[in-house]
Amino acid sequence: MDRRSFLKSSALGVVGAVASREAGAQGVERQAQVSDGPSLPVVVASRNGLAATQKAMEMMGAGEDTLDAVIAGVNIVEADPEDRSVGYGGLPNEEGVVQLDSSVMHGPTNGAGAVASLEGIVHPSKVARDVMTHTDHVLLVGPGALKFALAMGHEKRDLLTDEAREIWMKWKRDLSERDDWIDPADRLPRSMTPGEKHAARQMMRHHGTINCNAVNEKGEVSGVTTTSGLAFKLPGRVGDSPIFGAGLFVDNEVGACGSTGRGEANLKTCASFLVVEFMRQGVSPEEAGLRAMQRIVEKTTEPYLLRDDGKPAFGLNFYIVNKKGEYAGVNLYKGSRAQFAVHDGRENRLRDSAYLFER
Ligand code: ASP
Repeated sequence: MDRRSFLKSSALGVVGAVASREAGAQGVERQAQVSDGPSLPVVVASRNGLAATQKAMEMMGAGEDTLDAVIAGVNIVEADPEDRSVGYGGLPNEEGVVQLDSSVMHGPTNGAGAVASLEGIVHPSKVARDVMTHTDHVLLVGPGALKFALAMGHEKRDLLTDEAREIWMKWKRDLSERDDWIDPADRLPRSMTPGEKHAARQMMRHHGTINCNAVNEKGEVSGVTTTSGLAFKLPGRVGDSPIFGAGLFVDNEVGACGSTGRGEANLKTCASFLVVEFMRQGVSPEEAGLRAMQRIVEKTTEPYLLRDDGKPAFGLNFYIVNKKGEYAGVNLYKGSRAQFAVHDGRENRLRDSAYLFER
């Protein structure tokens, strides 16, 4: 971090690893380092991904491809009705329809495939792989993505569980300022009324996704991100998860980064690409994630997205691994959910993420 951006971040109260290293500040919660250094293979995932990292590691141990391994891992979460952020059981859009986004990237072949606003298919990550494998395209959306999925033999089913429908109905009953429509005037720099502040806080609602990235013993890297996206989103809203460079980026020469949290922030900064590019310059996964997070903070200027203290009113997390097997989870904020899943070949567990802001 250069002096100028460091001073700027200090003014905002940044206490994360980048700042603390230069300022000697406290408050950085670093991941426990593996005592004998990085090792391969390794799988990282979002906090809801412990079953995925386990499955992916087992498959890589059996000699399976890294992409097949991470997809099989996230398939467990996609099919889980209890996970409200992904696949079957995911929370629906404003109209009660579950619309799914997913992307996959296969490092060894520079392969990529994605689907967005896909309805009625439990495993969008498998359809994304089919886009990669069976077409010359990389992204299919909406009805076209569904037609393709059906042609590839994926089964259509209703993804809205009773529990998810109940939550949606409650949201409709309570509907006030908790939607995604914005008065253009709210983008103007001026102080906000308490009601507007309340609306801004609601922007933090119901995010969730699974990202899973793996490197095998040969240094082959793959990743997948899959989600039902922001709950109660406007129909047709596409988040960062199916967009290469935003919710997922893999470069076999460097490593991988995926993300959960406010997708719009990643879309506007190409955050996952940025993290991988910082690593290409020789920066560690943790530091690369913190630098990209800092960029997002600097680019978040809309008043309705800022808290009273000037910090972003949303959550954002990165899951990062490099080709050597070094890894990190990086969050915007510390908190009980600031953890990520990692299987390092020895044990599979949640670890604490680094973070930019204490609170
Ligand atoms: N990043 C996802 C999206 O914006 C949602 C999330 O991870 O919470 O669609």
